[in-house]
This record gives sequence, structure tokens and C-alpha cells, in this order.
Amino acid sequence: MATDKLIDTVRKCVDVVVIGAGLSGLMAAVRLDRGGLTTLVLDKGRSVGGRMATRRMDSYRFDHGAQSLNFSDPQVLPFLQRWQQEGIARPCDHSATPDESKSGSGSVSGILGISSFAKSIAADLSIRTGTLVTRLVPQVSGWLVISDDDTRVAARAIILTPPMPQSLDLVHQSDIELPTDMADRLAAIEYDPCIAVMCAYDTSEPIIPSTFVHMVDGPIVVAVDNFAKGVSPRAGAITLLTTPEFSRSHWEVSDSEIVSRILSAAKAVLPANPMSTRVHRWRYSRTAKSHPDTYSLVAMPEIIAFAGDGFGRRDLEGAALSGLAAAGAVLEALRQES
Ligand SMILES: Cc1cc2nc3c(=O)[nH]c(=O)nc-3n(C[C@H](O)[C@H](O)[C@H](O)COP(=O)(O)OP(=O)(O)OC[C@H]3O[C@@H](n4cnc5c(N)ncnc54)[C@H](O)[C@@H]3O)c2cc1C
Repeated sequence: MATDKLIDTVRKCVDVVVIGAGLSGLMAAVRLDRGGLTTLVLDKGRSVGGRMATRRMDSYRFDHGAQSLNFSDPQVLPFLQRWQQEGIARPCDHSATPDESKSGSGSVSGILGISSFAKSIAADLSIRTGTLVTRLVPQVSGWLVISDDDTRVAARAIILTPPMPQSLDLVHQSDIELPTDMADRLAAIEYDPCIAVMCAYDTSEPIIPSTFVHMVDGPIVVAVDNFAKGVSPRAGAITLLTTPEFSRSHWEVSDSEIVSRILSAAKAVLPANPMSTRVHRWRYSRTAKSHPDTYSLVAMPEIIAFAGDGFGRRDLEGAALSGLAAAGAVLEALRQES
């Protein structure tokens, strides 16, 4: 990955700016790169990966967003093979949802965390993290992309990959008018929220019976043992993902109250005395209502495309395929333009 210092010397004029360094944006950038276009990926986060998120807490490590992936499409299997060759992927016994373990490559988790998959792809790309894109300005032939740190990048086309409500906020605050039917279909994409609770226990023994323990009655969907999954170097790192209903009704509740309610609900499988805890709120976690296509693109005449897990399949594979498809369409549109 290019460092910020390097980026400052990199051209501020590229063929395509990709907004978002989650799996969708990274895949889009790979495809554009391979198609011979110059790209720059901008992400507001401190690191790449988006909802493929891993964090440290003392000597523990947790996946607190996506837990595993299941690839079956030939377009994305080479990436999985690359991660396996790099020694950063391993099969896991269950998936975060029982349905996801039924087909494809089987469930795979990231050794040292699921974000290692994103870091592996990002290594070959020009990326600037810590950069919130705040405005998109149409130019004579393309766009000016403006960020909160006043970075200005000129591009012939833009691909937006944030969760759709965030992409549409950016479009609206830039006073861009999308065709009505397109805007309506994008606005219909919906996501569920998810509150994730991370608990660190002082133990050298497994404290839940398997890597993934699914719970049917809520408010917890699944408890995940990050040590058994190969993510945490230290035993006792448990991630608890809560239902959309609990997450909605407890969004404004304090972290300590959330932890206390969740530990009480988990008492059949988890001790009540973690050494430390953290809460992470995902306003947009999994797609609840998706767009039927794999991406959306419009030439106004400036080219702007939308991709991400709001399109097609509602998971990491869907996000990856959407990014690849949007990039393919942008390549084609730019080819026709020149
Ligand atoms: C708790 C949880 C559990 C999940 N479990 C699984 C699972 O086990 N298996 C599975 O397949 N999927 C799972 N998912 C879903 C999966 O994580 C997503 O489908 C996938 O990561 C979406 O990738 P994306 O690239 O479309 O979006 P994201 O990963 O959200 O990437 C979008 C990026 O855009 C950036 N961004 C937003 N606005 C701006 C801006 N204005 N300027 C710059 N950058 C911006 C964000 O920082 C982010 O990095 C889970 C999700 C959550 C939250």
C-alpha cells in the first residue's frame, strides 16, 4: 500500500478515483489497474478493509465485523488461492450464518484477522486512508474529488463503494442529480444495524465449545472464539454479534449497559467476568434489501458508478463481485469515450 508520504508525490490526476477501501473498492481498483488505468482509492478509515475489520485490545485480537467468507465464483477464487498461498487463510468449522457454510469454497477465516485479506490486496494499490471524501465536483471531462483534508484529485470517473446511504449522502451534498429511477432504486437498498461486543477473558482454555456458537432466540446471533479461529494470539477473545432488533433498540444505550445485557443473555455459554470489553456499533452491517443488479453506472456525461454489498449477493463475495463488475463497466465506458 502506498503510504501517505508517497501519495503526496503521486499524481493528483488519475483515471479513476475509487471511494472506499472495503473489499468492493479494493477489487474494483485491482480490475482497473489490470485494465491499464491509473487509480487512487480513498478511505475515511484508519486502515483498509471497511467492514472486514480486525482490532487489537491489549494482547488480544478480534474480528468485530465480517467473520468469514465463502467464495464460489470463478472470478474471485484466484484471490482466495492467493491468500491460501500467502498463508493468511484457513478453513473454519462454521460460518457466521449457517447458510453460508453450505456451498462454495467452504468458510474461510483470516489468520491474524479477516482484515489481512484486504491488506494483502491493498499492497499492490495506491490508497490513501484517513481521508473522508466530502464533495464530488463535475468538471469539463470528469470529476474533482475533494476530501476533508482538502486533498483534490481529478479523475475521469468515480466508483463509490460505501454503504449506499453514505454514498447517496455524498451525492446529495455534492448537488448531483441522478436519474430519478436510478436514484429510487439506490435509495431502496437497506442495511441492518449490528452492535458487536468484544470480551477479553483471562484464560488459557477455550471458553465456548466451538469456534462459532449460534444462538437462536436473540439478542445474540453468534459468539465467536477469535483464538480458535486463529485471529487472536491469546485465548479468551470472544466477539458477540447482536440481532438487528437488539441493535436498533439499544443504539443510544451506553456501552456498559449493552455489555451487561449481552453478558446476561450469554450466561449459558460465557462467564460473566471478562477482564475488558469493547462495543462497536455498525449502523450498516449486512444488507437487508439489495439492488437486483451487480452495480449501477451513469454517464452524466461524467461517469459515476456505485458498487458494494448492496448489489446482488449480500456478503463479502457479493461485494467483491460488485466491485469487479463496476470496474469492468467503467473500463468499457472510458474506452468508448476515448
Ligand atoms: C458484524 C458484521 C458481520 C458480518 N459477517 C459477515 C460474514 O461472516 N460473511 C460475509 O460474507 N459478510 C459478512 N458481513 C458483511 C460484509 O462485511 C460486507 O458485505 C462487506 O464487507 C461489504 O464490503 P464493501 O466494500 O461493500 O463495504 P465496506 O466494507 O463498508 O467498505 C466501504 C468503505 O467506504 C469507506 N467510506 C465510507 N464513506 C466514505 C467517504 N465519504 N470517504 C471515504 N471513504 C468512505 C468506509 O470507511 C469503508 O471502508 C458482516 C458485516 C458485519 C458488519
